[in-house]
Amino acid sequence: MEVIQSFTIDHRHLKPGIYVSREDQGFTTFDLRITEPNQEPAVAPAAMHSLEHLMATWFRNSRAKDDVVYVGPMGCLTGMYVIMKGNYSVEDMRRLTIDCLRWILTQTEVPAASPESCGNYLLHDLPMCLWESRRYLHRLENDFHCEYTKLRVTLDDGRVFADA
Ligand SMILES: [Zn+2]
Repeated sequence: MEVIQSFTIDHRHLKPGIYVSREDQGFTTFDLRITEPNQEPAVAPAAMHSLEHLMATWFRNSRAKDDVVYVGPMGCLTGMYVIMKGNYSVEDMRRLTIDCLRWILTQTEVPAASPESCGNYLLHDLPMCLWESRRYLHRLENDFHCEYTKLRVTLDDGRVFADA
């Protein structure tokens, strides 16, 4: 098995921000990195689940809705993937995400948190979701990172960790 592209990014030098992790066949995968991997606590599962419902709801109703292919959490719980069709830059995605987070901060309930529309409707935590959203918004507005580190490391077994 080959190491897939996203595992070749050195996760020891990733700051919260927004990164392009893949561009292929007219689709762009954005990594909305919310916490610093292995340095800060990851987002708690229930808060991440609520964030997924809220972000997906906003993106699929947004000015970019026709281009939104997928919104879903990273398995490591440090961020969210958003896959877009067409030409979107990191700055476009930053503006969209800032508007999304501002909307989330006005919400008083999690959409579709019911047994009919969710596979685990009790696994939600709106207060922690709002806390994470507030911190991530502050980071996108004041301390924005979007460039992978230029560090390039080759491990003994030949794997190369590189900038994008
Ligand atoms: Zn759900």
